[in-house]
Amino acid sequence: MRALYKHHAGVGLALDDSRAKPSPGPRDVLIRVAKAGICGTDRHIWEWNPWAASRVPIGIVTGHEFVGVIESIGSAVTRFQPGLRVSAEGHITRGIDYNSRTGNAHIARGVEVIGVDRDGCFADYIVMPEDNIWPMHPDIPDTIGAVMDPLGNAVHTVMEAGVSARTVLITGVGVIGLMAVTVAKAAGASRIFCTDLDPRRLDLARKLGAVEAYDARDPAWVDDVRNNCRGEGADVLLEMSGAESAFNQGFAALRNGGKAALLGVPAKPFPFDFNANVIFKGVTLVGIYGRRMFKTWYQMEELLLSGRLELDDIITHEFPLEQFEDAFGEMISGRGIKVVLNIGD
Ligand code: ZN
Repeated sequence: MRALYKHHAGVGLALDDSRAKPSPGPRDVLIRVAKAGICGTDRHIWEWNPWAASRVPIGIVTGHEFVGVIESIGSAVTRFQPGLRVSAEGHITRGIDYNSRTGNAHIARGVEVIGVDRDGCFADYIVMPEDNIWPMHPDIPDTIGAVMDPLGNAVHTVMEAGVSARTVLITGVGVIGLMAVTVAKAAGASRIFCTDLDPRRLDLARKLGAVEAYDARDPAWVDDVRNNCRGEGADVLLEMSGAESAFNQGFAALRNGGKAALLGVPAKPFPFDFNANVIFKGVTLVGIYGRRMFKTWYQMEELLLSGRLELDDIITHEFPLEQFEDAFGEMISGRGIKVVLNIGD
């Protein structure tokens, strides 16, 4: 089969035309991949940044966001049959630690991530455990099926924060931040404020329902958000940039007693004033990782079926697998927002 894999400890990925097709274990399914989304994580692996170099084994097939069709099943699989169109939760847990057994498998110890710790989906076929399979509703198209993973990050963040009838500030409108705008709107946020550096993404955030979208480089936005929210600040902060300035300004624009859900991953540690930003403000903090298994997936499906999510403008490019260099180029340049690889026919 064809597979896009990490061929050396440096920049780039290589396409192998004759990789052995994986075979499912007794409780696995083999999936023929149709479409796969390129994620910021894949970009880190492409660029071989310090995180990737410390975590990702050479030789691994990348990619973790996909939709496809079950080709064959292991001998002990009972719930699914070949021919079913599916996506899958890419975080694999063994289900034996405290969090796995108490409804928090997304933060279980020893989580294995496809395309990072084991072979991923930028290939004609991928093997997944039966427990990770998410059957795709027939009304949800493949292009959306390819981005269930990042959409799930957005849904998880919005739902943990609780946005109904609240003012929401989103710092950073990359793919997941833009998805969070439409998800927060669908989930009943009263008014949404956004910041970013890219004017095109700010325009798109407005189109998706943000009442104000600010260039983060002009710190006057902090007072503007506070003034727009009774002089007190936004009820909810969704931090999706990982930028030091966004943490400092975002918490300054959050009202006392507000809630902050943190999804963006800072590249390195930085000083942060807990007294002013959290303790004396009585702020509630929640870290967001992955998707709740599988509460987030049910919420995501319902939001998609409601018809209230606008995702078409976020998925800007599709390329055949062979044109992976162009696909990564569009994404890394910032011209592409969400870029999808067409792998199957
Ligand atoms: Zn991803």
